[in-house]
Amino acid sequence: MSSTQPAQTTPRRYQLFIDGQFVDAESGKTFKSPNPATGETFAEVAEADKADVDKAVAAARKAFEGKWSKMSARDRGRLLYKLSQLIEEHAGELATLETMDNGKPIKESTYIDLPGVVENFEYFAGWSTKIEGETIPVPGQMFNYTLREPVGVCGQIIPWNFPLLMAAWKLAPALAAGNTVVLKPAEQTPVTAVELGKLIAEAGFPEGVVNIIPGFGETAGAALASHPGIDKIAFTGSTEIGKVIAKAAAENLTKVSLELGGKAPNVIFADADLDQAVNGAMMGIFFNQGQVCCAGSRLFVEAKVKDEFLARFKEKADKIKVGDPMDKATLMGPQVSMEQLNKIKSYVAIAREEGATVFSGGASPELEGAFQNGYFFQPTIFSEVDNTMRVAQEEIFGPVTSVITFDNDDDLLRQANETMYGLSAGIWTRDITRAHRFAKAVKAGVVWINTYNMFNAASPFGGYKQSGYGREMGKHALELYTQVKSVWVDLSGKPIGWFGK
Ligand code: ADP
Repeated sequence: MSSTQPAQTTPRRYQLFIDGQFVDAESGKTFKSPNPATGETFAEVAEADKADVDKAVAAARKAFEGKWSKMSARDRGRLLYKLSQLIEEHAGELATLETMDNGKPIKESTYIDLPGVVENFEYFAGWSTKIEGETIPVPGQMFNYTLREPVGVCGQIIPWNFPLLMAAWKLAPALAAGNTVVLKPAEQTPVTAVELGKLIAEAGFPEGVVNIIPGFGETAGAALASHPGIDKIAFTGSTEIGKVIAKAAAENLTKVSLELGGKAPNVIFADADLDQAVNGAMMGIFFNQGQVCCAGSRLFVEAKVKDEFLARFKEKADKIKVGDPMDKATLMGPQVSMEQLNKIKSYVAIAREEGATVFSGGASPELEGAFQNGYFFQPTIFSEVDNTMRVAQEEIFGPVTSVITFDNDDDLLRQANETMYGLSAGIWTRDITRAHRFAKAVKAGVVWINTYNMFNAASPFGGYKQSGYGREMGKHALELYTQVKSVWVDLSGKPIGWFGK
C-alpha cells in the first residue's frame, strides 16, 4: 500500500483558547492525541481541568454580561457568517487535520464533515436576526408580550466521531441566539476544535464569547457539567455519560440537552429495490467506520429475501477499501482509538458466545508498514442474530451490523421498538403506505425512507427514549438556547381594583 500520510516528525502543539487568548493549562499539563491510522502521536495538547474550567466560565460570563449582549443581532449574524467563510477558505487544511486526528477517510472529511460545518454556521447566521418574541391576546386593558432571550453561559461537551461538525452543531445555534460558550472537545480528537478557535479569533468575535478547553471527561468534562456558573449544558456522547451529566446538572438545576446513543433499525422489505437497499445498509453501518450514533446497526431483513440480500451485502462489504485514510480511494479508515477497537473485538467474541454467526469480517485487516499499528477493523456482518442478544441491544459504535429477520409488518415493528434507544430508523420499500405507517409507529427521532444518514442544518435531529432529549439543528435548536420572558403592561392607567380603590 502506498502511503499518502503527510510525513510528520514532531507532534503539532495546541493550547487552550480562553478569553480570546491561547494559553497553557494552569497545571502546565498536556496530553497526546495519536493518529489512529498509525498510533503515532499527532498532537500534544494542553490539558484543561477544573482550574481552567473556572477561568473559561468566568470569561464566558464576563463576555455574556458585556460586549456580546450589547451587540446587535445583525452583527452577531455577520460574525457567524464571516466564520463560515473563513472555515470554507481553510476547508482543505481542516479536513486533513480532522483525518489525521480522527482517522476518518479524507473523502469523508472533505465532502461531508467540512461542508456540514460551513452549512451550519451559515444557516444559523441567518437565524440571528429572526429570533422574535410574541404579543399575546390577553383580556382586559393589558398588553402582554414575550421576549426570547439567550440562556446565558453554555457548557458544551462533544464526542470524537465528527469533531468539528459536532462543534458546529453546538456552537452555531448557541451563538446565533446570543449565548456565550465553553466548549470541551473529546480527548481523542481535540485538534480541529482549537483550530476553529483561531478562526473564531480571526473572525472578530469578542474575547470570551467562545472558549475551547480540550481535556478529559472525568476532569474537565465533569467540572464543566457540575459548574454552578453555567446556565445550560449540551452534551453529545454515550447514554451512560449522558446520565452522569444529567445528574451533575441536576445539582444546580442547570438546563440540559442530550444527544446520546442509538441502535437503529434499518429495515429491508422484500419489495425494496435491493440494489438501493444494499447501498443503504452499507451507508447505515460502514460510514465513518460505524462510529455514528444513528448508525443502522440492527439490519432487519424480511425473511424471504434474507439469503439473496446477505449474499449481495457481503459481496459489497468485502470490497470496501479499508486502509490509509489520506488515500482518496479509501472508504474506511481506522477506528478512533485502541479502546474502541478492543471494544469492537470484544463484541465479536460476545456474538459468537451468543450463537450469532460472523457472516463477514470479524477481525482487523492485514495492512502494511506504519498502518500495522493503526486501529483498523473490517466491515463486519453478524447473521442469525436474535433481537434480544447483546449484539442487538448494546451500542457497539463500530462497522458491525446485526442481521435480524422478520416475517411481517407487525413482527417488524414490535422488534424494531424493542430497544432502550430511539434515535433513528430507516426503511427500504416501494410501498409508500407501509413506509409512512412505519415512520409514524417507530419510536425514533429521525426516520429515513429509501435513504440513510441524511442531514441538513435546517432539519431537526435528536432522540426518543434513552437516546436523549432536545433537538439540534433547524429552528428547534433555538429552543435549546433561548428562554422566554413574559412581560405585562397595564394600559388602563387605573390602580389594581382588588384591594379597593
Ligand atoms: P465515548 O464512550 O464514545 O468516548 P463519551 O460519552 O465517554 O463517549 O464521551 C463523549 C464526551 O463526553 C467526551 O468529550 C468526553 O470527554 C466527555 N465525558 C466523558 N466522561 C465525562 C464525565 N464524567 N463528565 C463530563 N464529560 C464526560
